[in-house]
Amino acid sequence: HVKHSGKNNYIFYQNKMKDVMNTKIEIEAILREALKTDGFKLLYQPQVDLCSAEIYGFEALLRLKDHNIRPDQFIPVAEDTGLIINIGRWVAKTAIEQFARWREKGLGEKTIAINYSSKQLRDKDFIIYLTQLTKANKVKPELIEIEITESILLENNNETMTFLAELKEVGFKITLDDFGTGYSSLNYLTYIPVDKVKLDKSINDKFLNLKNNRVMDSLILLAHSLNLKITAEGIEEWEQYLQLKRAGCDYIQGYLFSKPLESTEAEEIFNHIFAMAED
Ligand code: C2E
Ligand code: MG
Ligand code: MG
Ligand code: MG
Repeated sequence: HVKHSGKNNYIFYQNKMKDVMNTKIEIEAILREALKTDGFKLLYQPQVDLCSAEIYGFEALLRLKDHNIRPDQFIPVAEDTGLIINIGRWVAKTAIEQFARWREKGLGEKTIAINYSSKQLRDKDFIIYLTQLTKANKVKPELIEIEITESILLENNNETMTFLAELKEVGFKITLDDFGTGYSSLNYLTYIPVDKVKLDKSINDKFLNLKNNRVMDSLILLAHSLNLKITAEGIEEWEQYLQLKRAGCDYIQGYLFSKPLESTEAEEIFNHIFAMAED
């Protein structure tokens, strides 16, 4: 139905179409189609080790190939419709196979972090599935990080604790994502078996770039006191990098170093060292 009465009109129409498509029912149909037609892809965002300035690992971030719909829009729909189960399995399979492909190309082994939705708890065989994938691809589970959020603790608590304990038992790493955005994070940290916390962008934006950054220093100290590694995410500025390095933060992820990359782009910078003139 697109009318080519001029380039600007065409663009206008496209934009309007995008709005119309952002309804839940439309997104559900797009997700179902994407599962059937290989319509998803993963992007990989580097996580930089602040001590060595090397890439420590990558976070796998889901995208729709043919639609400009952000995960913040389509993940909630996937969760509500149960499609997250099959999508979550596709993400795990693709990420672990990518890990093996990079190793086979001689690039080396770097951790891959995978986002896990609490709605995937309904997938009772997910850990078995993960374990089969790592075995089949000869990937050490220690190099796969499962990123959970505090929302998992609002689900059935016994189920959650069993799931996390089993994940640890087989050797996977657990990261608490979006740290600082929820409730009583400190309490959770003392009883859930996490290896690492990821400081949310909103926390970094609030507590970095200030003359007094003692709050950030304390957060990092707190994590280290609990024997946790700490990643700061959403880092876009040099000043933030310098403050985090000074405070002893372990890893940084953000546009300052790199946006999420296609797998081929990730290969090009795989063993890059982010030498900092300011150090
Ligand atoms: P998240 O796991 O907290 O991922 C970090 C988000 O911040 C990503 O957005 C990333 O692209 C973005 N980001 C990274 N560096 C910067 C920066 O310097 N500045 C800014 N402004 N943003 C930055 P993205 O890819 O749109 O994903 C959004 C959320 O969607 C993720 O938040 C995660 O909760 C969810 N998600 C993404 N992929 C998956 C997936 O495969 N499964 C599940 N369950 N959730 C996913
Ligand atoms: Mg994440
Ligand atoms: Mg996050
Ligand atoms: Mg998030």
